[in-house]
Amino acid sequence: MIAPKKILIVGGVAGGASAAARARRLDEQCEIIVLDRGPYVSFANCGLPYYVGDVIKDESKLLIASPQLFRDRFRIDVRVQQEVLSIDRQTKQCRIREVVSAREYTESYDALVLATGARAIQLPIDGVELPNVFALRTIPDSRRLREALQGDSVKHATIVGAGFVGVELAENLVGRGLAVTMVERAPQVMPPLDAELASVLESRLMDHGVEVLCGKSLARISQGRDQRLLVDLDAGSRFNTDMVVLCAGVRPEATLAQAAGLALGETGGIAVDEQMRTSDPCIWAVGDVVEVKDIVLGQSALVPLAGPANRQGRVAADAMFGRSRRFHGVQGTAVCGCFGLAAACTGASEKALRRAGRTDFEVAYLHPGHHVGYYPGAKKIHLKLIFSKEDGKILGAQALAEEGAVRRIDVIATAIKVGLTVYDLEELELCYAPQYGAAKDPVNLAGFIAANMLRGDMPAMSWSAWLDGQQQGATLLDVRSAAEFARGHVEGALNIPLEQLRQRHRELPEGAKLVLYCEAGQRAYYATRMLMQLGHEVQNLPGGILTYGMLKQAGQAR
Ligand code: FAD
Repeated sequence: MIAPKKILIVGGVAGGASAAARARRLDEQCEIIVLDRGPYVSFANCGLPYYVGDVIKDESKLLIASPQLFRDRFRIDVRVQQEVLSIDRQTKQCRIREVVSAREYTESYDALVLATGARAIQLPIDGVELPNVFALRTIPDSRRLREALQGDSVKHATIVGAGFVGVELAENLVGRGLAVTMVERAPQVMPPLDAELASVLESRLMDHGVEVLCGKSLARISQGRDQRLLVDLDAGSRFNTDMVVLCAGVRPEATLAQAAGLALGETGGIAVDEQMRTSDPCIWAVGDVVEVKDIVLGQSALVPLAGPANRQGRVAADAMFGRSRRFHGVQGTAVCGCFGLAAACTGASEKALRRAGRTDFEVAYLHPGHHVGYYPGAKKIHLKLIFSKEDGKILGAQALAEEGAVRRIDVIATAIKVGLTVYDLEELELCYAPQYGAAKDPVNLAGFIAANMLRGDMPAMSWSAWLDGQQQGATLLDVRSAAEFARGHVEGALNIPLEQLRQRHRELPEGAKLVLYCEAGQRAYYATRMLMQLGHEVQNLPGGILTYGMLKQAGQAR
């Protein structure tokens, strides 16, 4: 392989800037040119919602590296406001237009990197071009939003799309004193999460005054009589708002690649190999514009996240200079902050597995404190672990908590990456001191619970199976205290507190199958072990009544 003498990179943010800087570190001689049609390169789009919210006050803080820094530190020629119009693969040339002057020129390449990112999904509705309808992709977008928020004319904002960016923006707009309505087409907020976890996030939004309208689509935006906007939903409802921000997701910005005849994948992203090489051996593609492999589901996917984009940029540069490093795929590890609650996930969700036709998995729920209960300030973590029935391999996890969710999901993300099982989670040695965790960390506990299920030490049945009536004739037993039972219980349950069960188990209907629950799962597990050894047939409902409450809130339980 001959090292390229001239590298052209289209797009200078996460993927493009990483590829450029890495290429320079590998080769001091080659010429590197980065072209971006926007006014900035290497900016922190992840920080934009916080700039709109005035949490980040100084716009310059969003600029990670300027063209000057690229020139001085790396001898990289960064040209902003230069749009690449076309690629001639025969002559290895790009046609470029200077945005300000409209002058066109060509630039040759030995190696070309497409890091053109993603563009906002265009909603096919009237009114998206109206003033006070915004997107949030770039620094100028966020500046326009900030300008609109100056003064006190904007009192109500409508956010279309309740994914990561929409939720972060909602928090920031509430922080600026606005009333906020979110419109989400899916039946839940934060579609990557399973519905019962998303319901906790939805409650947090509503607790802070955000109106959340799920299962509703935007049908039209129009100008009202009083300078306000009028929003119509497909369900027939209509309301006034002062601004609309479209956060309805993104599509790969692959038009340049497509026009050049490069192969696209089934998802519409550019098809690349493990070294990020496209169907043309002299062209690489990285970041939001490429199709990736989901390492859990084994399917093609689009995963527009900053981490993969950065790592792919490094892989592409390595490949150009003959290094063998590969990008092995994504697992969708992500986190979103929402009024002090972190919602984090990695790997496959239960619904994604079901969509893929998979039924070969089990689910464990737990709700431990983020550190030991005796040290003040313990916060509950809602943790869901999804694992293979056959061999215990970890397939995915989701966690919501005010503290400690991210750390647990990062550990499980690493476990998924290296193919660990729930039995390995039992064995992990993790940090512990009273203010940081527990001797049995929530990750260990997740492993214990899942391994107990697989070993048959704690036979489980899912809440949905119970609620669907799959255990007709079974006795539902609540092993919490009488006081807890009196405060609320699942319909039809019998109450024998764990502490009385050894003495009173003969009261249970003879020969009946028992289905047990408690508050979070621990007492029901102790009861399960006891009753199994006393000769009863027992199953446990994972995560106790806390999980039931989440399912109920999500509309998945009666
Ligand atoms: P981009 O960063 O989109 O850059 C592509 C660049 O290519 C653009 O500057 C564009 O102008 C340029 N370009 C496109 N076509 C051409 C052309 N023809 N000629 C010249 N230039 C061109 N990810 C996370 O992991 N965590 C987060 O918290 C997070 N928060 C986010 C918040 C917001 C508001 C946004 C918008 C995104 C967020 N993301 C987050 C996603 C993350 O920013 C992207 O995954 C990442 O930036 C993708 O990098 P990229 O290099 O592929 O594309």
